[in-house]
Amino acid sequence: MLTLEGKTALVTGASRGIGRAIAVELARQGADIAVNYAHNAEAALQVVAEIEAVGRRAVVLPADVGDFAQAATLVEATVNALGRLDILVNNAGIIRDTLLLRMQEADWDEVLRVNLKGAFNTGKAAARLMARQRAGRIINISSVSGLMGQVGQANYSASKAGLIGLTKSMARELAGRGITVNVVAPGFVTTDMTETLPEKLREQLLMLIPLGRFGAVEDVARVVAFLASDAAAYITGAVLPVDGGLSM
Ligand code: NAP
Repeated sequence: MLTLEGKTALVTGASRGIGRAIAVELARQGADIAVNYAHNAEAALQVVAEIEAVGRRAVVLPADVGDFAQAATLVEATVNALGRLDILVNNAGIIRDTLLLRMQEADWDEVLRVNLKGAFNTGKAAARLMARQRAGRIINISSVSGLMGQVGQANYSASKAGLIGLTKSMARELAGRGITVNVVAPGFVTTDMTETLPEKLREQLLMLIPLGRFGAVEDVARVVAFLASDAAAYITGAVLPVDGGLSM
């Protein structure tokens, strides 16, 4: 049911963590993949090798998604390399955590620029192409922090809540063109991003998660693959938490 054979996908921030798992899972389901990253070329090349090992095509495309021109070029380069673009996953994200009273203007600006403006930048460029195809899937990776707020994450939570508004507006505007736009909102998932959480906070968080564990990157990747597939054809503007029950 989940087959993505013949499709192509651009996954932003696919060199590590959740993005990497999404890229590999979409490839396993049959899609060819554009692997975007910002700094870590070596890691991105490993992802390409992993995708090629499952028999799909992959291309590495460095770009800062927060830069409007670079994001447009990224989408164009995906089509030039793979022939078309069926699935866009806006996964690239950063944190600059600190309490509001200590937060610098630059901490706010950079997180909003990458996490929120990045999805606008790539989403706008991809929507133009997908509208011509009269088909497409856009999946934005938000966070439980965007649903609930989080101490020390005013910038990050605002960016991730903003993604939900962006998604719903895009879903309404693009539905008539055969494009669905949805959000996946992960809870705490074991990646580089959560590695630095203090042990005490980790223990407190675990007590709040009904399923009693942090998520694995594959927990998120499988849900993204579902939303990218024909099985999810009648879902748009949805926010799907993948958080072990944390946000309910
Ligand atoms: P991660 O391990 O820190 O990886 C972040 C990825 O984003 C890397 O591939 C990085 O590329 C890329 N990136 C950063 N800035 C970029 C930019 N300006 N342009 C393009 N790519 C950029 O993060 P993660 O934990 O996998 O998180 C992935 C997404 O899930 C993020 O949007 C995050 O907010 C969201 N999320 C994560 C969790 C969690 O618990 N981990 C929970 C909820 C939501 P380089 O390797 O080149 O630096």
